[in-house]
Amino acid sequence: MVNGDINVTFWGVRGSRPVPGIHTIRFGGNTSCVQIQIGDRLFIFDAGSGIVDLGQYLLKKGKKISGEIFISHTHWDHIQGFPFFGPAFVKDNNFILYGQGKMNQTFANLMRGQMEYTHFPVSLEQMGAAIDFREVDSGHDIDLGDGIIVKTIHNNHPGGSISYRLEYGGKSCCYVTDNEHYDDLDLNICNFISGTDLVIIDTNYTDEEYLGTNGSFPRVGWGHSTWQEAIKLVKAAGLKKLALYHHDPFHTDSDMESIEQQARERYPDCFAAREGMSITL
Ligand SMILES: [Zn+2]
Ligand SMILES: [Zn+2]
Repeated sequence: MVNGDINVTFWGVRGSRPVPGIHTIRFGGNTSCVQIQIGDRLFIFDAGSGIVDLGQYLLKKGKKISGEIFISHTHWDHIQGFPFFGPAFVKDNNFILYGQGKMNQTFANLMRGQMEYTHFPVSLEQMGAAIDFREVDSGHDIDLGDGIIVKTIHNNHPGGSISYRLEYGGKSCCYVTDNEHYDDLDLNICNFISGTDLVIIDTNYTDEEYLGTNGSFPRVGWGHSTWQEAIKLVKAAGLKKLALYHHDPFHTDSDMESIEQQARERYPDCFAAREGMSITL
């Protein structure tokens, strides 16, 4: 049995590609990775470049590490940190990876692909830890023991993506990326996140960027949403806390502060996720 709160820590909050540099110091430049810790149970959502620092943090504890890793989809910004995830190189550690196979390829093969010899010198099988793969699809309820359940739903994204809802002890957290809104409210996603304590959601663009009304080209059909659309969704779904997530790599710290301030005027219990930030539910 575990005893404890749901602790959520952001290790990578960026979409598309890592953006180190002087313009992303306050929000962080690593791609998608969120840790959820419940007592000794470790859960990781996505393995973008943020998982590398999470790995170093876990290794410093000097204990055997086991955990479950949930991959939304295998676009690079969600898996590119895995070949550098230190704990996966340690014998006796063990990880279960959940994700979805596509285009006649199993999820395991999609994860192996980025570690083929032409891309990376170490194969997935050579990493050292015991790594087990589980296929997930929309509508699955995964019983993780200790009263922890993870639910899944499909997103609207090129090639597909899966959202996850983790529930434990009457609390819940939803991880919804990458996902593009529709013209009408997406009732499936709305029901999926309904009443959750924290939703971490793809708000890659502003409405103006998405529609191309800011003088640039539109991003319709690119598979991402806006902070304005996320607020419509969470108001309909009756949530507690909203985390803006999967920040556009071109958004600087001051852009993000401005977006966060505007979002809070419409929905006060809202913040733009920052690397290193932790929240207890
Ligand atoms: Zn992405
Ligand atoms: Zn994607």
